[in-house]
Amino acid sequence: MSLLKVEKLGKSYNADAKVLNDVSFEVEAGEFVSIIGPSGAGKSTLLRCINRMVEIDEGKVIFDGNDVGSLNKKELRKMRTNIGMIFQHYNLVPRLSVIENVLHGRFGYKTTVQGILGKFTEDEKEQAFYLLKKLGIEEHAYKRCDQLSGGQQQRVGIARSLIQEPKIVLCDEPIASLDPNASKVIMDYLKSITMELNITCIVNLHQVEIARSYSDRIIGLSKGGIVFDGPSYRLSTDS
Ligand code: ADP
Ligand code: ADP
Repeated sequence: MSLLKVEKLGKSYNADAKVLNDVSFEVEAGEFVSIIGPSGAGKSTLLRCINRMVEIDEGKVIFDGNDVGSLNKKELRKMRTNIGMIFQHYNLVPRLSVIENVLHGRFGYKTTVQGILGKFTEDEKEQAFYLLKKLGIEEHAYKRCDQLSGGQQQRVGIARSLIQEPKIVLCDEPIASLDPNASKVIMDYLKSITMELNITCIVNLHQVEIARSYSDRIIGLSKGGIVFDGPSYRLSTDS
């Protein structure tokens, strides 16, 4: 059974416009998949349906054996501990330190907790430091997040998403706010750390070239429908 199965998924925010229509694909554990398409194609909405940040209107999402659309609140909370999220604008708590933001990932994304360091065991802190070290930002652990560059903040975002040891990370335009150099650094880290920890990764991107050089497989989305799904080398340069 695949880790994720999206079956004839349909979504609209208002009655007259369908943002996703008849979207079907499966992702196997360990895959690194890019979803590409122009702004407005439905990429964000697709990721939001997978962890049910928005309600699923038609079809099904099956994640890790769960029928996502039919879970109750408690089941949904449990499922979300297996899904890490990475955002374009990092979504860190600016006044908290790097290490606090990372540990914060253990609560999911709902709570804003100040002075949380004392709430964690030494093991958990060690795990957070392990990730910071892997991501090359250990030396910034006690700085406030808003003192870091965009690329460094996104590395904090990656660490926060991985601290709960999810099965999958969903990355919504993780490099759209970064310059080309910082973008490459982030993609390198994202790829190597998810491979090492054996975590499946889906990345929304609008840059075809980056998708092609980092992912095994590309899904092309246009106007809410899949227009390409295959190995990256099969995507022609003019698409
Ligand atoms: P992408 O990530 O590919 O840019 P989105 O999923 O963000 O695409 O948006 C797809 C379409 O859905 C766009 O037309 C956008 O304006 C619309 N949309 C996104 N979020 C909402 C929302 N919360 N309410 C209404 N329309 C939305
Ligand atoms: P980003 O590209 O950073 O996701 P967007 O402008 O696409 O930023 O969306 C920002 C927020 O506005 C999201 O929560 C999205 O759901 C919402 N949104 C996007 N398009 C619409 C829309 N047409 N109507 C209402 N809300 C929207």
